[in-house]
Amino acid sequence: ATPTALLAGTGRGAELGILLSGPEALEASRHVDTVVLDKTGTLTTGSMSVSHSVVDTEHEDEFWSYLVSLESTSSHPIAQALVAHAEHVRSYPVEGASADAGFGVQGTIEGRSVRVGRSTWLSEGQLSVPQHLTDAFNDQRLDAYTAVWLAVDGELWGGVYLSDEPKPQAAATIAALHARNLQVVLLTGDSQGPAEHVAGQLGIDRVIAGVSPEGKVDAVSALQDEGHRVAMVGDGINDAPALATANVGIALGSGTDQAMSAGDITITRGDIEQVPTALALASKTLGTIR
Ligand code: ADP
Ligand code: MG
Repeated sequence: ATPTALLAGTGRGAELGILLSGPEALEASRHVDTVVLDKTGTLTTGSMSVSHSVVDTEHEDEFWSYLVSLESTSSHPIAQALVAHAEHVRSYPVEGASADAGFGVQGTIEGRSVRVGRSTWLSEGQLSVPQHLTDAFNDQRLDAYTAVWLAVDGELWGGVYLSDEPKPQAAATIAALHARNLQVVLLTGDSQGPAEHVAGQLGIDRVIAGVSPEGKVDAVSALQDEGHRVAMVGDGINDAPALATANVGIALGSGTDQAMSAGDITITRGDIEQVPTALALASKTLGTIR
């Protein structure tokens, strides 16, 4: 394509809140046949709400305090929801807090080792599960809910079930992608249950769930190995490696800086309905000239 055409495409994109890292982004997006989308914060609002909790009766008082103290160190949508839900509980200083992107957060409170996150991550170490929490903890599907668990010194104290709504424009966006004959895949670190629930609401038929940030990279590579040209859409730190691996990385501007710098295309206003527009921009700009 001529430099003038590329420049025109870039300018048109900027008007729509679609920023390109360079003209190659237009050329690459022209050949995309598969669009992979992250769930939390990308297809869903990311403002999660607490539905219910299961807590070991022995630790009812400290459960929320420990949970909120630790989550205060995280900016994950789950952390924001939990902190907002229990804002009046006593908060403790946390030492050595560290987030394991896509898994959870850990730190030390009152000299005890505290972890909050997904069940598989907690049970990697030594974990004792009180009898009455066993069934809930081992239920990987947990229906449509996202579940996070709290463990203190290797003992499970309880868990919280959260839910998240699809963004209002998400269903129309998926329909627009399907109308352009693109394969749509939902890719998430969350478990199979909530992933399928959201996919069902949005008419997405391919779901890859329960994966780590590295697993997201592997999933994108596997699609590429199948011969697909992949656009990946994400908003979080955990999406950055997959955005960089995809043929076209599309970062939502409402997300994290890491995601944005890993993207070939940034949608500055964070509205997902610009994804089909961004992909169409390439064909509109380059398609007519060739
Ligand atoms: P997604 O791929 O949907 O954006 P993430 O990869 O960010 O999801 O997170 C995957 C899972 O890791 C979450 O569903 C949750 O179980 C766990 N997790 C991640 N961050 C946190 C946190 N700050 N607190 C509790 N759990 C977390
Ligand atoms: Mg996300």
